[in-house]
Amino acid sequence: MNEHDSEMIAGMLSELGYVQVPDRKEASIEILNTCSVRENADKRFFGTLGQLKRRSKEDPEYMVCVCGCMMQQQHIIDRIKEKYPWVDIIFGTHNIHRFPTLLGNAIREKEQKIEIWDARESSEQELPAKRLYENKALVNIMYGCNNFCTYCIVPYTRGREMSRAPEDVLEEIEKLAADGVREVMLLGQNVNSYKGEFKNPGNQQKARLEGFVEEDGICTFSHLVRLIAGIDGIERIRFMTSHPKDLSDELIETFRVTDKLCKNIHLPVQSGSDRVLKKMNRRYDSARYLDIVRKLREAVPGITMSTDIIVGFPGETEEEFEDTLEMVRKVRYDSAFTFLYSIRTGTPAATYPDQIPEDVKHERFNRLVELVDSISLEKNLAYVGRTEKVLVEGRSKRNRNTLAGRTDGFKLVNFTIDPSAFMEKGEACSFDEIAEKLTGTFMDVRITNGKTFSLEGEAVL
Ligand code: SAH
Ligand code: SF4
Repeated sequence: MNEHDSEMIAGMLSELGYVQVPDRKEASIEILNTCSVRENADKRFFGTLGQLKRRSKEDPEYMVCVCGCMMQQQHIIDRIKEKYPWVDIIFGTHNIHRFPTLLGNAIREKEQKIEIWDARESSEQELPAKRLYENKALVNIMYGCNNFCTYCIVPYTRGREMSRAPEDVLEEIEKLAADGVREVMLLGQNVNSYKGEFKNPGNQQKARLEGFVEEDGICTFSHLVRLIAGIDGIERIRFMTSHPKDLSDELIETFRVTDKLCKNIHLPVQSGSDRVLKKMNRRYDSARYLDIVRKLREAVPGITMSTDIIVGFPGETEEEFEDTLEMVRKVRYDSAFTFLYSIRTGTPAATYPDQIPEDVKHERFNRLVELVDSISLEKNLAYVGRTEKVLVEGRSKRNRNTLAGRTDGFKLVNFTIDPSAFMEKGEACSFDEIAEKLTGTFMDVRITNGKTFSLEGEAVL
């Protein structure tokens, strides 16, 4: 979500005529878009901000703008005002669209501008985004979160849940498709609780005839996915994130019948212990979670799964941590994001008395990562010999002579390609030209090796 906000900030600046520079030293404006989900992110922000002070004092043209989730917390704003008073613009998560106005005012009036809103004005303020990738796009379908997991700051920084109207989402994706986008990632903190109200009663009526709309005329997430699948040009649909408590049988059926919906799900489990899940306010237990996994795998053979896990939630015992290890062994995730529990001021869990000592958290974390990684490697090795269709993203980050792409199951594949197949008028193309030509296309790749975080392969031409 933050990444998409950054794309929109870049989009607004482009419209104003600004260009992105590769080296921050050349920038006349620097914008720090912050995350607040763990303390580490907060620390990195203040560290980076401190480094900008000198230039800010010396160069009157240079502007520092800060935004994102951290700015929605009063104690952070107070700290910036006290220790970093030279920051030029501060805005929050609910008023990104105000950035051009704030920027103009700050430049004209030569004074600091701070504007933080408590809530979003409407669900219609989508902005032009400068996409990170040409052929895949992030699309907000909803904002905020109502779940209040006891460890999490997001409901406080992103506000209450608000779904965009289905027509607005579809219109945005139709435009993206016309602009060459082949893959969309639908974004929401809990997409399974998407409830879109149709703007046009005719669309609602049509949807009802197709058997989609619930009694109260609300478009569900499954319905939205099926409507998006009807858009020409869009070939892959993904979503993030999906909360297990609201994962419906309807969505499992949607996976089964909608070819364009990628066979991959990120389903954060957080813990394998029922007592910890309850204290986290996750509102499912391990049995319900495993039942969803079973149903998904039955309906969608080969579906890949990833998850988020928190280690060292207050009061977590060794046995409860082992329940998490057991959950990982049972589900056998393709990959997992593992986090050390981090105290977030303002959340209920921050006040729980039984915080876990850092060394215990780290020791458990290392055991968990070892298990997760060994399963990822085994799963990836099982791909060797298979041919996978990948959407090419460009050159690989590590080896500039290979290309990178993602499979339907979201596996990263770094692959080689035989340049002789790209002879043009008898002359071999450069690798640059080949990479440019293939980026954004689908290619068959034969998998030759599996690593912990990626696959390796060679293009089938
Ligand atoms: N809405 C998503 C999660 C968004 S935050 C969901 O519910 O699935 C992404 C992940 O950060 C969470 O799944 C959780 O694993 C982790 N996280 C959130 N707050 C945290 C905290 N205080 N300490 C450690 N990890 C945290
Ligand atoms: Fe945070 Fe829970 Fe909302 Fe996810 S569902 S954003 S973890 S409160």
